Amino acid sequence: MKSGGYGATMSRILVLIDHKENRRLLAEWLATRYTVLPQETDEALDEEYDLGILDGTALDRLADRIQTRKLYQQTVFLPFLLVTAEQHVELVTKHLWKSIDEVIHSPIDKVELQARMEVLLRARRQAAALRLAGERALRHSEERLGLLIEGVQDYALFLIDPSGHVSGWNTGAERLLGYEAEEIIGQPLSQFFTPEDRQTGKPERELETARTTGRSSDENWLVRKDGSRFWASGLITALQDGSLQGYVKVLRDLSERKQAKEQIARLLGREKQQAARLVQVAAASLTIHSALSVDSVLRVITHEARRILDTHQSVSTMTVNEQWAQAINTISLSDKYAQWRTYDAKPDGSGIYAVVCATNKPMRLTQAELEAHPAWRRSGKEVANHPPLRGWLAAPFVGRDGRNLGLIQVSDKVDGGDFTAADEAILVQLAYIASVAIENARLYDGLREADRRKDEFLATLAHELRNPLAPINNALQIIHLSSDRAAREQARTMMERQLAQMVRLVDDLLDVSRITRGKIELHRERVELAAVVASAAETSRPLIEAAGHELTITLPPVPIHLDADLTRLAQVFSNLLNNAAKYMEEGGHIWLTAEQFRDEVVVKVRDTGLGIPAEMLPKIFEMFTQVDRSLERSQGGLGIGLTLVKRLVEMHGGSVQAISEGLGRGSEFTVRLPLTQEGAPLAVVGPKPETPHKTPPRRILVVDDNTDAAESLAQVLRLNGHEVRTAYDGPTALDLARAQVPEVVLLDLGLPGMNGVEVAQRMRQSLGLTDALLVALTGYGQDEDRRRSQEAGFNAHLVKPVNLDAVLMLLARSQAAPPGQHGAGEG
Ligand code: ADP
Repeated sequence: MKSGGYGATMSRILVLIDHKENRRLLAEWLATRYTVLPQETDEALDEEYDLGILDGTALDRLADRIQTRKLYQQTVFLPFLLVTAEQHVELVTKHLWKSIDEVIHSPIDKVELQARMEVLLRARRQAAALRLAGERALRHSEERLGLLIEGVQDYALFLIDPSGHVSGWNTGAERLLGYEAEEIIGQPLSQFFTPEDRQTGKPERELETARTTGRSSDENWLVRKDGSRFWASGLITALQDGSLQGYVKVLRDLSERKQAKEQIARLLGREKQQAARLVQVAAASLTIHSALSVDSVLRVITHEARRILDTHQSVSTMTVNEQWAQAINTISLSDKYAQWRTYDAKPDGSGIYAVVCATNKPMRLTQAELEAHPAWRRSGKEVANHPPLRGWLAAPFVGRDGRNLGLIQVSDKVDGGDFTAADEAILVQLAYIASVAIENARLYDGLREADRRKDEFLATLAHELRNPLAPINNALQIIHLSSDRAAREQARTMMERQLAQMVRLVDDLLDVSRITRGKIELHRERVELAAVVASAAETSRPLIEAAGHELTITLPPVPIHLDADLTRLAQVFSNLLNNAAKYMEEGGHIWLTAEQFRDEVVVKVRDTGLGIPAEMLPKIFEMFTQVDRSLERSQGGLGIGLTLVKRLVEMHGGSVQAISEGLGRGSEFTVRLPLTQEGAPLAVVGPKPETPHKTPPRRILVVDDNTDAAESLAQVLRLNGHEVRTAYDGPTALDLARAQVPEVVLLDLGLPGMNGVEVAQRMRQSLGLTDALLVALTGYGQDEDRRRSQEAGFNAHLVKPVNLDAVLMLLARSQAAPPGQHGAGEG
C-alpha cells in the first residue's frame, strides 16, 4: 500500500454511474477536489480507491461484489455512497450498512454531497490510522517474539503457511532438526515426519486439528536432516486474523526425557524382578531353615540359588574347621551340563574360591576377568575337573563368630548375561540364610549326638552299677553259709573290691557333673611332680597288677614343682594309667615319662594296647565317648574319665593330647603343665599314715536316716571296740546327746526335717558339746558342702559311703589333738 494513499489531499474516488451524462458532470465537479478513477467497466471496482459513488442500477448489479470486497479484501473501511431518487426507499433499506454506507438523493446538492463524502473519507482515514498503529504494535511484538524465539535454543520454533509449508525458522529449529533456514523454508511440514506417520497422514491431521480447534499437541518421533530420529513434543497453534494466516509450531526434543523415562521403566522392571526374587529368597529361607542336617541345607541352598538366579551351575562347599580335606560339596547343574552331574571333584583349597573363603567377601567376575585372575590361573588342575565356567559369582558362608564355613558359587546365567550387582545381593542373602541354617544344623547335630551319647551312657551306667552287685551278693551268701575262714575272707576282699569299683564310678560321676557345672575348686599348692605321680601309681597299681602289665616310670633327676591340687592331678594320671591298663591285652607295658621343657613339664603315658582309631582321636575327650560301646566288652568305665582328665588339666593351665597309630598300635597321652612360679608354698606330702588298728574305746553317736547305713556303721565301730548309739533323726539325736554326752558324733547332713547342719549347731550351742568331735557325713563331696559344714561347727567332713579306715584315722587323730583343730578327713 502506497504511503499517502489515505492522505487527506487526494482521495481517490471511483464513480460508478451508469447514466453517462450525469457521470461526466459529477466527475468533472469531483475532479476539482479529488482524484477520480476513470470508469470504463465494472472491473474498476477491484482498483484502489477510497470511496465509491454509485447509482441504483450499478448497485443492483454490483452489490455482492462490493460486499465481498468490503468484508474480505479490504483491510480498512471502504465506504460506498449511493446516489438515488428519493422514492427508491427499498433499495436503500436493502443495501444500507451492507454494501453502501451513505445515501444522497438526486438531484445532487453539491454542498451536501461534499459534506457526506468528507465524513465517509474521514472515517476511512481513521480506520487506516488505527490499522497502521495496530500493525506497528504487531510488528513490534513480532520482533520481540522473534528475539524470544531466537533466544530459545531448547525449542524449535517455526512458522508454517496455511498450505503447510515452512515459512519461518529459528536457530533452535536449525539446531534440533539440522536444516538451515534457506534450505527448509518452502518445504512441507511433513518433511520432518517419519515415513510411517506420513503414510497415515499425520502431518495433515495435525494442521487440520490446529486449524479447526486452534491448537494441536502431540508427542512423536521426528526425523532430522541426517535421518536420525528424536522424540519430540510439539505444539501447533493456528494464526488467525479474520482468516487463517498460518501456524506456529513449537518443538521440544524429549529424547533425553524419553530415555530417562525408559531408563526408569527399565530400573522399575529390574526392581520388580529383584523384589520377586527376594520373595523367592524368603520362600527358600523357610525351606532352608526347615532342613535339619548340614547336608540337606546345602542341597536346598544349591538348588535354590541356581533356580532363583537362573544359572546353569551352582556349587556349595562347606569346610570343616576351615579345612578343605573333609569339605562337603553339593552340586546343582542344568540339563546343559547333564553329563557333568556325576562329577565329584573335591576342592583342595587351591582354586579361586579359596579367596572368597579367606576374605569372607563375595566375588563377581565376568569370564574374561575370571580367566585373568591370578588365583584362577593357579587352580589349573582343579579347573579341568569341573564343568567349564561362564562368568562367576560366589558368596561366603560365614559363622556367627565371623569364621568362614565355606561358600556358594554360581556360573553361566541362562540369559547369557554377566552377573549383576543385584544377582550378587541375592546370592549374598541366600548365603547368609544358609550360614545360619548350617550352624543351626550343626548345633542340632551336636545336640542329637550328645543326646545319643547320653542314652548310651545311661545304659552303660546301669550296666556298670549292676556289675558289682552280683559278686557282692554272692560274697554275702558265702559269708552267710560258709564256715570256712579262708573262703569268708576271700569273699570279704571281693566285696571290698567291688564296692571300691562302685564308689569310683559314683565319684567320677559326681566329679564330672561338678566340673561341667564349674562347681569344683582346686586346692592349689606347690607340689612335687614325683609326689603326684607316686600317688597316681599307688591308686592304679592294683588294676595294673591284676592285668599283669608292667609299669615303667621315668622322672627327671631334679624335683619338678607345680602349682597344683595334688589329689586332682593324681586323679588325672591315675585315670590315664587305668585306661592304659584297661585297654590293653594282659601282660602289656605302660610307660610314664616326664620331661621338663623350659617353663613346662611334659608327662607322657604310653601303652602297647588296643590303640585308638584316627577318627575317634578328636572325640575321646568328650563326655560319654567310648570307642567300643558294646556292653559285653565294657572295661568298667562310663566314658567320662578322659573328660575329667581334660577339664582338670585345663583347670591347671595345661593341655592334653592323644595320639595313636591306630587299632592295636598302642596309645600315647601327653599332658603339658606349667611349672610353678618360684616361692609358692610347698605341700609336704609324707607317706600315708598307717591305719591305726587299735584306738582307745570312744563314746560315739551315729546319726543317719538311712537305718541300714547307721546300723552297719555302728556295728563296725562296735567291732572295733567303741561304744556306739544310733539315731535316725535330728531330735532323737539331740535327746540321746543330752542324756549321755558323746565324744564323737558322726552326723548325716541330709536328715529329713531338722537337717545335720542344724543338729550340729544345736549340739554346739544348746547342749554345749564344745569338745565333741563332730564329723559330717554327706553324699556330696562338694567344696561348698565342706565350707558349710565347717561353718556349722563340724570338725571333719566325710563323703558317703564312709570309708572305715578314714573314720578310724579320725578317731585316732582326735585323741592327739584337742577338738576344733582336726584336719579334714578324706574327701
Ligand atoms: P572309659 O574308659 O570310662 O570308657 P574314658 O573317657 O576314660 O572313658 O575313655 C574314653 C574312651 O577312650 C574309652 O572308652 C576308650 O575307648 C578310649 N581310650 C581311652 N584311653 C585309651 C587307651 N589308653 N587305649 C585305647 N583306648 C583308650
